[in-house]
Amino acid sequence: MKKIPLIFFVAMTLSCAVINQLNLLTPEQEVELGRQASREVERSVRLYRDPLVRAYIDSLGQALVRVSARSQFRYYFKVVDAPEVNAFALPGGFIYVNLGLIKAAETESELAGVIGHEIGHVEMHHGAKKISQQYGVAVLVDVISGSGDPSLKRKVIAQLVGFGGGLGVLRYGREAERESDAFAVRCMVNARVDPEGIARFFETLLKLHKREPKGVEGWFATHPPTQSRIDFVRSEIAKLPNTSGLKKTSARFEQIRARVLRR
Ligand SMILES: [Zn+2]
Repeated sequence: MKKIPLIFFVAMTLSCAVINQLNLLTPEQEVELGRQASREVERSVRLYRDPLVRAYIDSLGQALVRVSARSQFRYYFKVVDAPEVNAFALPGGFIYVNLGLIKAAETESELAGVIGHEIGHVEMHHGAKKISQQYGVAVLVDVISGSGDPSLKRKVIAQLVGFGGGLGVLRYGREAERESDAFAVRCMVNARVDPEGIARFFETLLKLHKREPKGVEGWFATHPPTQSRIDFVRSEIAKLPNTSGLKKTSARFEQIRARVLRR
């Protein structure tokens, strides 16, 4: 058998690694694609209209965005009137938080951890990278401008929304989930919110899963809260100086949570 030069394998591995990291869209294209997908989302879910709850989620999200620095996106945080414990992000800064998630979080830092994680997906372009690798930039440019095949456009948007909706697949892949967890840790420390909330929320989910598996199924499919993930978050926290004395919760969170639990 002829020996295949080692350099060939090295080159192949390198090019795959590079392709995995590639985002072929400009920020403007990402925003436009996200906006079109968000319209689709908002046609199919019911948004929660309580202005106090909406304002709270928006202010919590915007506070995290402010410290995550250099964001090129304008963020929109919206509350979905759905009981499942879930949150998702679309490219370009459109983030949706289910009412079930606000009810499930036991402290503000748990809720902030999930929102920080979703901001991480946006900031690291996970959705745009995945979709641009799959379809190529030419197809996406047609989708964005509305000049392409409408059925293909529906497919692309459905897939983006599917990543967002967490329909039974590990949408961005394990590595991206870790990247987003690490992002959330740093983002929370910068916002002076206790990043331990991320690990505690995973523990809260594990408890919920034992008690009521149906309400957290989607979450388990897309963001499995495994022990190794909890350990990873804690190891990221341990790398940072000055993580003691950070905010675990707030009176406003308690009020909002009591309000949503009453309904
Ligand atoms: Zn995720």
